[in-house]
Amino acid sequence: MSLMGNLFFSSLLAPSRSDDDDTESRSSRVTQLCTYFQQKYKHLCRLERAESRQKKCRHTFRKALLQAASREPECTGQLIQELQSAACRRTSISQTKLREVEPAACSGTVKGEQCTNKALPFTRHCFQHILLNRSQQLFSSCTAKFADGQQCSVPVFDITHQTPLCEEHAKKMQFFLYM
Ligand SMILES: [Zn+2]
Ligand SMILES: [Zn+2]
Repeated sequence: MSLMGNLFFSSLLAPSRSDDDDTESRSSRVTQLCTYFQQKYKHLCRLERAESRQKKCRHTFRKALLQAASREPECTGQLIQELQSAACRRTSISQTKLREVEPAACSGTVKGEQCTNKALPFTRHCFQHILLNRSQQLFSSCTAKFADGQQCSVPVFDITHQTPLCEEHAKKMQFFLYM
């Protein structure tokens, strides 16, 4: 456990001095748990809806293909071949594009010196410095707060959560939830 993470969680879990503090910290823990589970539930609902939409799409597509095949077998065969080759072309194009781009050096600085890490694909910053790029929207700062109110500044790649946590803080949250 890192020192910073310890501070954050010990502020949540440490036994308080008076009964007043106890009830207060307990109710704040319960509220935090509630929001966490609400978010998790909403996220799962979204996933479920997307999945069932996709299922419906695939089902409709298969039905249409079957119908077409019974009426116009030759044309349908041609169409399937075209669809397949189009899918092949798409993947091969994206693969060559990816191969062409060599990772450049990170343009961030560490104590005045150029960072020596390789930049992430299609960016000019490494993972540690990616938040310096203000226009990117894939990474965000960890939303955990330390006991002194300062926010953790570790970049997180998590586009599914509204309150993303770094690996360290996510682990602590799991621990906190299952205690
Ligand atoms: Zn860097
Ligand atoms: Zn963090």
